[in-house]
Amino acid sequence: MSFQIDCPNCGTRGVWEFHYGGAAGKSRPPLSADAAEWTDYIYNKENLRGVQTEWWTHRSACKLWFLVERNTATNEVLSSRRYSVPPRQEEPAG
Ligand SMILES: [Zn+2]
Repeated sequence: MSFQIDCPNCGTRGVWEFHYGGAAGKSRPPLSADAAEWTDYIYNKENLRGVQTEWWTHRSACKLWFLVERNTATNEVLSSRRYSVPPRQEEPAG
């Protein structure tokens, strides 16, 4: 398995400089969730064949965690980008 990833800080490098952090998008359960929900969150992965968004970190250089859109069947990297926290929704004044 050899392909290249574009780090938002450092540019394009070989995949061996990075560490895979899992598929993105699975929401963390609330603290009040039962053991079954936590078990599902931690251990049950979709293992999708095709394009998915994933967490990667540039472990050999800047240590940045960022998102990569990759085809898991071909290892083609379609895009990479920094994660940005969505703006917080304000509670309506009541
Ligand atoms: Zn980097």
